[in-house]
Amino acid sequence: MTSDVIKTKELTKVDPVFGQLSFDDHEQVVFCNDKDTGLKAIIGIHNTVLGPALGGTRMWQYATEWDALNDVLRLSRGMTFKSAITGLNLGGGKAVIIGDAKTQKTPELMKRFGEFVHSLSGKYITAEDVGMETSDMDLVREVTPYVTGISESKGGAGNPSPITAYGVYMGMKAAAKYKFGSDNLEGKKVYVQGIGHVGESLVEHLTKEGANVVIADINEERLQHVSNSYGATIYRGDDLYAEQMDIYAPCALGATINDDTINKIKAEVIAGAANNQLAVEQKHGAILQDKGIVYAPDFLINAGGIINVYAELEGYGKDEIIRKTENIYNTTLEILENAETNGVTTNMAALNIAKGRIEDRKSQNSK
Ligand code: NAD
Repeated sequence: MTSDVIKTKELTKVDPVFGQLSFDDHEQVVFCNDKDTGLKAIIGIHNTVLGPALGGTRMWQYATEWDALNDVLRLSRGMTFKSAITGLNLGGGKAVIIGDAKTQKTPELMKRFGEFVHSLSGKYITAEDVGMETSDMDLVREVTPYVTGISESKGGAGNPSPITAYGVYMGMKAAAKYKFGSDNLEGKKVYVQGIGHVGESLVEHLTKEGANVVIADINEERLQHVSNSYGATIYRGDDLYAEQMDIYAPCALGATINDDTINKIKAEVIAGAANNQLAVEQKHGAILQDKGIVYAPDFLINAGGIINVYAELEGYGKDEIIRKTENIYNTTLEILENAETNGVTTNMAALNIAKGRIEDRKSQNSK
């Protein structure tokens, strides 16, 4: 699975940046190249009306540079709305490093990347995403203060993934309450696709509550580890989307709800951590709505991580992190009800509120 299903051929037909399918009035896109370390990175700054653009760095072996550009444009846009709907004074940004995190990530490369982040003077603040560890952020911290998600021993809030998972769990419970009339997940069949940093922690919450959890991953070692640790069932089929389930939790990469999968999905609720789950927001959001599938918007329920790293900037502690993350339950319910009242998709309802907050700030700033 690449991060997006939009084909390279389609991407190359348009102008390189401003004409990209995923370009949505991004403020700045920075291409970073360093021959000595092999660094090839793109930093996307979508919007800084509410504050500095904060968002993680993803290291991934993209099939083409177009895919990387498309990913950073989509991801950085998502961060703008994630922070806006969560009530944080942050803008949206994201970075991608092109390469294999297992074999091409070196301390020198991470520090060089940090220098590029530093050159933006705080307009973009980084953190970890797929392919990154807290220790990588510690390396970046050696060359710039514009980084979050650093180790607790170095004064940071530590790995954000468990908090992200807790927020997803809260959002999932709210969606269950809306769809099934109860937020109790005991006995519910939940498929967790991708059991990395966030997925594993989500499985822990779900199995504790007595959900019937099925796990899927391309990494056999992780499957064995998570299955042994929490008693989850390993999925061995070849078409997860077509399986009968109550809840589908996408926790790997984005765009898994797309033209190929959407008509197969039998889940009644979709709630997961992955960013940009809908390949084409409006189209796929509307089809889910027509099918009566409750979609908990990804950028709303996976905000635990950003809440956690924001604590490093604002200086609030664990209690406040948990309180803000638990509030995802209330916000999710409000958004689902708002979507029904206004006859829009759940994704659109969440986007409208996020955009409203940005517009309000813009008009305050211009007074
Ligand atoms: P991770 O790299 O630790 O885990 C991803 C897992 O997905 C890996 O185990 C990988 O093997 C698996 N995977 C990849 N392709 C797959 C496929 N085709 N089928 C099944 N499994 C597959 O990443 P993570 O930090 O757990 O993040 C997961 C998702 O959540 C990402 O989309 C990320 O952007 C998003 N997210 C993460 C955070 C966070 O705090 N880490 C916050 C917000 C959003």
